[in-house]
Amino acid sequence: MLFLPAFITSLVAAILYKPISTKSVLTNGLENVLLVTAHPDDECMFFAPTILGLHAANVTVSILSLSRGNADGLGEAREAEYMQSLDVLSIPESRRFIIEHPDLQDDITKLWDPDVISDVLHPYIVAQNISTILTFDPQGVSGHPNHGSAFLGARHYARSHDSRVKVYSLISVPLPTKYLGIVAPLQAKIDLYGIALLELAEYAYASVLYMAGRSSHAPFLKSAVSARTMPVFVSGFDNFLIAHRAMRQHWSQLVWYRWLYVLSSRYMWVNEWQVAVTAQS
Ligand SMILES: [Zn+2]
Repeated sequence: MLFLPAFITSLVAAILYKPISTKSVLTNGLENVLLVTAHPDDECMFFAPTILGLHAANVTVSILSLSRGNADGLGEAREAEYMQSLDVLSIPESRRFIIEHPDLQDDITKLWDPDVISDVLHPYIVAQNISTILTFDPQGVSGHPNHGSAFLGARHYARSHDSRVKVYSLISVPLPTKYLGIVAPLQAKIDLYGIALLELAEYAYASVLYMAGRSSHAPFLKSAVSARTMPVFVSGFDNFLIAHRAMRQHWSQLVWYRWLYVLSSRYMWVNEWQVAVTAQS
């Protein structure tokens, strides 16, 4: 009687245990990536699976927060928390940046000017030789206008300043799927394993046709979890715990509902990306 629950528990633990990511342009080793966030704590609340997945793929990642999160006058403390969080996320001091600009102040009622963001980003992108910007999408996961502004600013930069820079945006999922806890990484991993299985089946079928002389095309196995899929990063237990530890550095933000967020949010486990601006040259 106990066998079935034990088997299911072991299966779930095994699926959750390891991180997994798609092979995509983000992990091909050719990109210098800049993650553009809006506030200290965005990096671990929303982007930790990607940061840790890119580390595993040996991709150089820089991070820039467009504000110090000074909405409650805590800017100085929050900057210190941001630095501690980035210690946990293994971003070296030479690749972490935080902006204090009068037109980019943490404010839940304000959109930021894309021109200002674009100008602010420029020297960092040049100095770090950035080829790809990662940021929020227009909904900004939580609907915070500063998050959506980060997207508009990054897109404006790529379109107006530097056509070689690509922009990817983090997909905001609908509310019912946002707070699924460990169901989110389970579902995301099963999806990715399903794609790999389909590719294997496709390869096996093409091989049979080729060997039977019914096809002149030699089969080849597409890279499992292939480049046809969008960039996806799913954390395993270890990376989830690192993200959790990074979040705990933001002590000034850890009110009760943020603990609920940390325990239930899909973004502590899963990041899915879409292309916002492709390189023009
Ligand atoms: Zn934020």
